[in-house]
Amino acid sequence: MPELLTLQDALARILERAQPLPTETVAVAEAAGRILLEPAFSRVDLPPFASSAMDGFALRAGETPGELPIAFRISAGSPGPGALPPGSAVAIATGGAVPEGADAVVPIERVTEHGDRVHVPEARAGQHIRPRGGDVQEGEVVVGSGERLGPAQIGALAATGIAAVRCSARPRVAVLATGSELRSAGEPLASGQIYESNRAMIAAVLVAAGANVELLPVVEDDENAHRAALRRGLEADVLVTSGGVSMGPHDLVRRVAAELGVEEVFWGVAVKPGKPLSFGIRGATLVFGLPGNPVSSLVGSLVFVRPALLARQGLEHPGPAYEHGIAAATLHRNARRDEFVRARRRFEEDGVRLVPVSGQESHMIVRAASADVLVHVPRGEGEIAAGAPVRYLMLA
Ligand code: AMP
Ligand code: MG
Repeated sequence: MPELLTLQDALARILERAQPLPTETVAVAEAAGRILLEPAFSRVDLPPFASSAMDGFALRAGETPGELPIAFRISAGSPGPGALPPGSAVAIATGGAVPEGADAVVPIERVTEHGDRVHVPEARAGQHIRPRGGDVQEGEVVVGSGERLGPAQIGALAATGIAAVRCSARPRVAVLATGSELRSAGEPLASGQIYESNRAMIAAVLVAAGANVELLPVVEDDENAHRAALRRGLEADVLVTSGGVSMGPHDLVRRVAAELGVEEVFWGVAVKPGKPLSFGIRGATLVFGLPGNPVSSLVGSLVFVRPALLARQGLEHPGPAYEHGIAAATLHRNARRDEFVRARRRFEEDGVRLVPVSGQESHMIVRAASADVLVHVPRGEGEIAAGAPVRYLMLA
């Protein structure tokens, strides 16, 4: 294996080739998780009219306290009422349009009604009234370009009368697993065989990053099988393979990919797990060769493939997005490779403590499943003491 690239250099080489995909118009109801590529402007003032924040009585604060006749009743959605007659109150529901002239709402639980009159305590001008445009004004930006649409952004777009938005297309990602030893759940295992687990796991990471994933069949360690499957996978925007990128005689992915015109950008990154990762391009297709050990595939898809997918969707800061915590135990540094240690968060008063799980080998996917984060341990001499600050990535 040639000189290993650092984590940072490998990521930089990937991201500089992760060109944005074309944009498309997407209904707001279908846009969750997408990245907005044009700012969305409000179609209305929100609220569109001064509205009541409470069930109660709209009135003039200057005419309180006292007993006022109830002029009329307003429910949410009823058309704009007339003005508030002087010296009176109107019954109003939450969300109802405040009549002209009223400058306060007194909640129903603070008043006493006597037939068509109501006794109200002293009110303060402005109380319980939501001013027109208090949230956003017509023409203002609701969500900016380059932002990921989470639930709150979807709600904001819908509330401001926006039906559809311009987003990046979802990257089409083909996921291929290689290995003659791999069997599917439900099949009996003969000696030497294991269940195939990487495709579904990689797909879980990539779907959460906005990808449209196609699972290709599992291929044996056979050149012809590799050729057919890789050829098909290369039609996608991104091709992710698992296994077959190490030094062994059965590791065929890189050789067959090269034969099919994939230009290798690098092979080998100074990370643990996941060192023999390969990355190449053919035309606009990005090609990731993840090592087959399940935890290597997991780390590789989170640390390298996910940022590439987000970049292809136009996200300005595609990550990986580190958070800050505190090591709960001593972490030994690897002199040559950055390490991603599987750990569980423990929330304490002074911050998030990160407790490494037992079983850190790259085949131990069940041990990894008891973790919720990857702690980044930069390569170097010595150790990170318990109590020292560290960065981590969410596993989910
Ligand atoms: P490889 O990268 O092909 O040398 O595989 C490394 C290790 O990962 C071997 O123990 C393989 O059996 C295992 N492995 C490879 N691919 C998968 C997969 N899709 N699911 C589960 N284990 C795998
Ligand atoms: Mg293999």
